[in-house]
Amino acid sequence: MIKIPEPVTEIFNRLNENGFKAYLVGGCVRDYLRGQSPGDFDMTTDARPDQIKDCFKNERVLETGLKHGTLTVLKGGLAVEITTHRTEGLYSDSRHPDAVFFTKELCEDLKRRDFTMNALAYHPVRGIIDCFNGLEDIKNQVIKSVGDPNRRFQEDALRILRGLRFSAVLGFIIEAETYQAMRDQAHLLKRISAERISQELDKLLLGENVRKILIDGVDILGVVIPELLPLKNFDQKNPHHCYDLLNHTAVSVAAAAQISELKWVMLFHDLGKPACAKVDQDGTGHFYGHSRVSEEIARKRLNALRLPKEKIRKICLLIKYHDAIIEKDQRLVKRWLNRLGEESFRQLLAVKRADCMAQDASCHYRLEEIDEIEKMIDQLIAEQACFSLKDLALDGNDLIAVGIEKGPAVGKALKMLLKAVMEEGLVNEKESLLKFLKEGENHVN
Ligand code: ATP
Ligand code: MG
Repeated sequence: MIKIPEPVTEIFNRLNENGFKAYLVGGCVRDYLRGQSPGDFDMTTDARPDQIKDCFKNERVLETGLKHGTLTVLKGGLAVEITTHRTEGLYSDSRHPDAVFFTKELCEDLKRRDFTMNALAYHPVRGIIDCFNGLEDIKNQVIKSVGDPNRRFQEDALRILRGLRFSAVLGFIIEAETYQAMRDQAHLLKRISAERISQELDKLLLGENVRKILIDGVDILGVVIPELLPLKNFDQKNPHHCYDLLNHTAVSVAAAAQISELKWVMLFHDLGKPACAKVDQDGTGHFYGHSRVSEEIARKRLNALRLPKEKIRKICLLIKYHDAIIEKDQRLVKRWLNRLGEESFRQLLAVKRADCMAQDASCHYRLEEIDEIEKMIDQLIAEQACFSLKDLALDGNDLIAVGIEKGPAVGKALKMLLKAVMEEGLVNEKESLLKFLKEGENHVN
């Protein structure tokens, strides 16, 4: 049933030949049982760290976490993490165990793992070792803590987010007692580093089941992104909207293409709405200026979550323009291309698509408009249309060669030429550009 790659078999054999027992463990076993090929391989063994090291002294190894019993063997393009069976001491900080202890007992090692589905081991001869009913839980698609969930989340609060992430990605449901403990212990997430939190959120947002998790898990996620909480039950009082703000946001995240930046944009795009809400005489809700407020909220929160700077810049740019009106007009489309560049402009259209899909069906005709704008872009790119300085048929040196003074005058002339090409149909050829420039000068003189 489980067909493990050759390099992993060789690692098994090496430990066996030296008198040690080894097992595949954790996510890779879970993935095999779900009929998927694992992304990475973790092994656990009764060999002590120095003994593991001896077994692989002629191989490429990384001493990733030797102190905690982990060594990574690089073999046949795979990186296999091998960890001595261990138990963990007290967790006084809700993050790390104060100490780890090595053990000979496999089940002791499995007991420290977060969820039953992640607490399975596999041995090529003995088969699956299931000390905590993980097989049944995988079959029923249930996420359940190993042991007392409250205690397990108090030990390491990151497990709360891992649980939500697994549910979003795998579509498994979270067992009731485990879910309740997640809610009760969610406040401990404040102690977890921003990097670990944003890594989990990133995977969660890309999960197929993200919509349900954003809605059901909002009180938990609200500990790390408090700005989500006012979205709950927020009635937009607007005929374009069939969902409250939280549902709209969740549906739009799910509808966005599978690109991390786009998921973050959708999560944050309307966070400014509650602060900008106005209801007119007819009782209709309006949210003038909310894009800017959302952008500010996003910048602050994403910085606090320590996302990479360049990623934050892209996300904020798309939030800023998410509600801008984009018309099906070649000249205007060129302006957008000039302002954002091709990649970001296409992404902005993807944002608008996701936003629209999360609105009332009466608005869905806009999806066709977006498709048409996308086709306009395709055409402009195919025609090698000019919409940025680098597309111009000449550059600063050409202008200096015809006597324009080095310095700001060059940039000014280039911009003027670009505008004439984009807006006034000036032909983008060197000769006609220079001629236009000359005529302009004569005109000024
Ligand atoms: P994936 O690699 O698909 O994200 P995974 O379950 O393999 O999921 P890893 O972070 O690779 O997750 O961890 C490997 C295994 O280590 C897990 O399956 C689990 O058994 C254990 N584990 C990881 N993190 C924790 C944690 N915070 N608490 C308890 N056990 C954990
Ligand atoms: Mg893994």
